[in-house]
Amino acid sequence: MGRKELLGGAKRIVVKIGTSTLTNADGSLNERLIKSLVAQICKLKDAGFCVALVSSGAVGAGMGLLGIAQRPKILSRKQALAAVGQVALMHLYERLFWAHDRIIAQLLLSRGDFSDRARYLSVRNVCAELLSRGIVPIINENDPVVADELKVGDNDTLSALVAGLIDADLLVILSDINGLYDKNPSEHADAKLLSFIEKIDEHVVKMAGGEGSKFGTGGMATKIAAAQMANQIGTSLIIANGRTDGILLKIAAGEEVGTLFSAGAARLSSRKYWLAYGAISKGAVIIDAGAAEAIKSG
Ligand code: GLU
Repeated sequence: MGRKELLGGAKRIVVKIGTSTLTNADGSLNERLIKSLVAQICKLKDAGFCVALVSSGAVGAGMGLLGIAQRPKILSRKQALAAVGQVALMHLYERLFWAHDRIIAQLLLSRGDFSDRARYLSVRNVCAELLSRGIVPIINENDPVVADELKVGDNDTLSALVAGLIDADLLVILSDINGLYDKNPSEHADAKLLSFIEKIDEHVVKMAGGEGSKFGTGGMATKIAAAQMANQIGTSLIIANGRTDGILLKIAAGEEVGTLFSAGAARLSSRKYWLAYGAISKGAVIIDAGAAEAIKSG
């Protein structure tokens, strides 16, 4: 089956852009590339696609602005960088989208906005309202005010949660690699790019080992976990290289770029997805000695 059939005319898209795509080697924002991605998103919108953007890059841009080369480990320092960088990021997005007469909105979310059902539904309604007005929501984690243990933690996971929030058909994760390879391409010259993953099994998870960049958080492992999540709610996921010319238009046209993790026919309901990934379990299961014995011997 070709890409077009596999994607089944996807129209609601979440685009996640990672820090490694948004920033240059020195941490400054890569305006030329962001401009091109914004132009592509606007073209998709003109063609009737509904697009939400999950953008990283706040900490990275803050590092670039303040001339800090190493991502700090101290939480308050990281948060201050995110507070500085988020402004620069949104300022740039606003300017670039305005050039296409497109209005943007900023949503800074944290774990609690997903785990609390009332807050979750409220964010869901806001997103629906923005999208119905043709506005592009730009979403990031609310890094400056949320402590690490209360965070979603990485924007790959955040983008999969957002896919559930807006009932997306497709989540595109743009990174600095072409997709998932059968082995690490920076170590093996003969590594092969995998164009289609039908099922995420242990073997696929193993192929995804590895770290993220010095400015960003995620690596291939968080992307595969995001694919696992998104596929369950009926959202297909493509990992592709944000630096490939016209990448979003190529994906929308069904070209064989990146790695596609296709959602199967079975999908969780929106509420079950929220229970599985949004809600935080508060209870505990207590197993007495007799039950433990029964489980072990069963
Ligand atoms: N929220 C972080 C930022 O904007 C990025 C998290 C990630 O890289 O996944 O800098």
